[in-house]
Amino acid sequence: MSTLQITILADNHVAHRQTLAEHGLACFITTGKHRILFDTGQGQVLAHNAQALNCDLSQVDAIVLSHGHYDHTGGLPVALAAASKTIDVYLHPAALESKYSVTAGQARDIGLPPAARAALQQPNIRLHPTSGPLEIIPGLFQTGEIPRPHPEETATGTFYLDANGKTPDPLWDDQALFFDTPAGLVVLLGCAHAGVIHTLEYVRQLADQRPIHAVIGGMHLSRANTAKLAWVAEQLQRFRPQLLVPAHCTGARGIAALWNAFPDTLRPAGTGATFPFTPQPLSLTTEKETP
Ligand SMILES: [Zn+2]
Ligand SMILES: [Zn+2]
Repeated sequence: MSTLQITILADNHVAHRQTLAEHGLACFITTGKHRILFDTGQGQVLAHNAQALNCDLSQVDAIVLSHGHYDHTGGLPVALAAASKTIDVYLHPAALESKYSVTAGQARDIGLPPAARAALQQPNIRLHPTSGPLEIIPGLFQTGEIPRPHPEETATGTFYLDANGKTPDPLWDDQALFFDTPAGLVVLLGCAHAGVIHTLEYVRQLADQRPIHAVIGGMHLSRANTAKLAWVAEQLQRFRPQLLVPAHCTGARGIAALWNAFPDTLRPAGTGATFPFTPQPLSLTTEKETP
């Protein structure tokens, strides 16, 4: 099978000349046949970086959204304006809910920006709100909703469904992308609000307990305390990843902790960083059970 390449189009840091950074994440996935956009960043750097990195947004076949926060969905109008064909957009239904960050009584709207919501109404879109695992293109899957058995990784934070801060947002919309390679699974995270360990455990469960080869994306550890960082680093060792690329909301503290724990495995992310893989076919465990 031909190469599957992941190019980081939006991230909090820059890794390639002539690219720009923002607080957000977007990844461009190319295979021999398909162009997939995983998240869109805030939209301030998407078009610029795509051009600088020769990632043709007009050729995108599908957009997968990891969750509904503005720093992953704000670039939807940019991506959809560039599209030359009908685009399939995959997301968990809860991604469309109102989302706020409330700290000290101050609410900030952090859900899909109005322009992104409007863009989803365009006629050149096929919207696929799906809460379960789904094959996006042959061999590339979204996880859908991720089970969360470990209290150590329970989502904490300032996220609410209402501006008054009464109803916490469990962010059930949070999901990851994954595919298989001869060396093991590659997992692409948005913000990992469900927890990176929860995500990896669930992906292995879906993928017949194949080993984890690479983990790329946001790990949401920028505000994690020392105990949480130590727990995540220790749990990650169980999976023996051969490539760890913490991006976006992993934060400086999170990246430092992981780099100490995985000195030979970690590679920095950043806009323009590229990661080529050799994908191989994969059928989900759950699919095998249903005749
Ligand atoms: Zn988020
Ligand atoms: Zn984020």
